Amino acid sequence: MVTVADGVHAYVQEPGGWCVSNAGIVVGTDTVLVVDTAATEKRALALRDAVDALAPGPRRIVVSTHHHGDHTFGNHVFSGPHTLLVSHEAGPAELVRKGTALQSMWPHVEWGHTQVVLPTWTVRERATLHLGGITAELIHPGVAHTPDDLVVWLPEQRVLFAGDLVFSGAAPFVLMGSLAGSLAALARLRKLDPLVVVGGHGPVGGPGLLTFTEEYLRWVAALAEKGLADGLSPLETAARADEGAFAALLDRERLVGNLHRAFHEAAGGAPGARIESAPVMREMVAFNGGRPLRCLA
Ligand SMILES: [Zn+2]
Repeated sequence: MVTVADGVHAYVQEPGGWCVSNAGIVVGTDTVLVVDTAATEKRALALRDAVDALAPGPRRIVVSTHHHGDHTFGNHVFSGPHTLLVSHEAGPAELVRKGTALQSMWPHVEWGHTQVVLPTWTVRERATLHLGGITAELIHPGVAHTPDDLVVWLPEQRVLFAGDLVFSGAAPFVLMGSLAGSLAALARLRKLDPLVVVGGHGPVGGPGLLTFTEEYLRWVAALAEKGLADGLSPLETAARADEGAFAALLDRERLVGNLHRAFHEAAGGAPGARIESAPVMREMVAFNGGRPLRCLA
């Protein structure tokens, strides 16, 4: 747990690769806000204990930054008569469509009891939460990591919970969202002028995390342009890429998925339009030399 401002805590699950996501705990005098709820029952219960220790009061709002299971499977551990579950308005349909499918990718993980719980309240563009002494803004930054991204912005503390628009120390992932949309969203987030940025995975940082993500995504866009010009596939483009400093990122195989989205957009594909992920995941494994993707939950 990292306290980033008075009453504002980042719950960081190191090192932040596949399946181990961060959460946020914002303690107001009336209500506590929890941002995301972890992947497994055990991890969600540990997070709930951390919330209970900081704020034993019953009034809770749980905001999902997007539908991915590593951020939402724990929602049921928090749901109850005094808890409001919130997502972007595109979230419920995605939650229903995906269900617990993520778990079949990593059957050896001890997921515990998990169930998909749908939010009570959804946000289209923007909403403001008054928690008592702390104001939190929920902002849909456009289609970026997924169609249902929602970031949490604390304007007085200048703390941004960016969800998976930001991976700290790990490769960004836009296969299910949009590369162009991510760049537009990051420009929008930069205008908020955050002091502290809590990404969906990895260590807490500052606005440099936004810059780094932009640099990575621009590199992917340039690779895609060249790959397309040379008549290569996304996997071939990834295999020939000079990764430079990006080679040290956790889960670097996401480059293949990111190139699929970039190729799709270059061909006029709409942001968030569905790309079947299973074959792309297999290509990511191939890029890794056959090593399976590493879920750390
Ligand atoms: Zn995600």
